[in-house]
Amino acid sequence: MYKPVDTNLNFVEREKEVLAFWKENQIFEKSIALNEGKKGFNFYDGPPTANGKPHIGHILTRVMKDIIPRYKTMKGYHVLRKAGWDTHGFPVELEIEKLLGIDGKQEIENYGIEPFIEKCKESVWKYTSEWKNMSDRIGYWADMDEPYITYDNNYIESVWWALKTIYDKGLIYKGYKIVPYCPRCGTALSSHEVAQGYKDVKEISVYAKFKVKGESNRYFLAWTTTPWTLPSNVALCMNANEDYAEIQVGEERFILADALVAKLFEEGTYEKLSLKKGKEYEYAEYEPLFNYETGAKKKAHYIVNDDYVTLTDGTGIVHIAPAFGEDDGRVGRRYDLPFVQMVNERGKFIPEAEDLEGMFVKDADKVIISKLKANGALFKEEMFEHSYPFCWRCDTPLLYYARSSCSSR
Ligand SMILES: [Zn+2]
Repeated sequence: MYKPVDTNLNFVEREKEVLAFWKENQIFEKSIALNEGKKGFNFYDGPPTANGKPHIGHILTRVMKDIIPRYKTMKGYHVLRKAGWDTHGFPVELEIEKLLGIDGKQEIENYGIEPFIEKCKESVWKYTSEWKNMSDRIGYWADMDEPYITYDNNYIESVWWALKTIYDKGLIYKGYKIVPYCPRCGTALSSHEVAQGYKDVKEISVYAKFKVKGESNRYFLAWTTTPWTLPSNVALCMNANEDYAEIQVGEERFILADALVAKLFEEGTYEKLSLKKGKEYEYAEYEPLFNYETGAKKKAHYIVNDDYVTLTDGTGIVHIAPAFGEDDGRVGRRYDLPFVQMVNERGKFIPEAEDLEGMFVKDADKVIISKLKANGALFKEEMFEHSYPFCWRCDTPLLYYARSSCSSR
């Protein structure tokens, strides 16, 4: 039963001999046929993208994915193994954009969506033979002759069927997600892509005065590093458990975190009038900074509470624009705040923003600051150095932007 092993054994050659034996004798097919009629265990490959070359990471996952079906076969199950190809997605589209010398969503639409899709379909099979050779070489057993392919209509229709079934059961709704987004490329970026594009930049931050509703000369003081989000403001957020001071400075009274008063006001220039917890201000109303027609139906412009507000920078009062920040979006849902998005997918102000219409957000910062100044709502502007993400592809500053969970790309 045993043969002595040659001390000069060539492992690579040995593997090739085994593979050839498997192939010649149809061992994979037999291993399935042998258990025909027994209890089934199905394996669908989590499909790789065929328009990229296989790399060492794929070998690791393929080896692991091979172990379970083999084990189940040895335990007597009838194990069908279907390979698959993921033909959708951004990597495919990027390849074709490069090939056609076009760039971004708008240029794809100009080129024509249907012909673009055709090009994508052609391109996805570029490296199939590399994938087949790699899979064979590592002894990965799966039915590669009849794979499922995500661009096949029967596959797409089964996804639709699944979605409709979930919808019919009332388990699905349309929402939005705040994503790092490049307004030039018209696409959301993965966290991995965002991490590649951080740069230290100096930008203008502002301290804005939000007038307490129905009172004169009394303000909540809030700080923001993105003045362009102020026209989409719907609330101010305080930390329920922190102390907030109200101080008198000349004719005016300001409410801000007690711990940050000394950072913003010189000793002796103010008088402390009261000290309250953020909780006591919850639902207190203020007047909006701008009077744009936002179309918002729900109640807005009041104080909300959340723990994410810290006292490390600013005033301890955070301006909330649910369309432009993950925490803002979360707080907005919790308080049922209206969703106001005064900026379109190109990063430009929409017509409702009147005089700001068509302006790119970062260019609008200066205009907004001068408007605040004119309205007496600017307390202070300050250069602020921080690390900000830029698009790794085109160097445009990324926006944190609420995108409908149903839109493409
Ligand atoms: Zn970009």
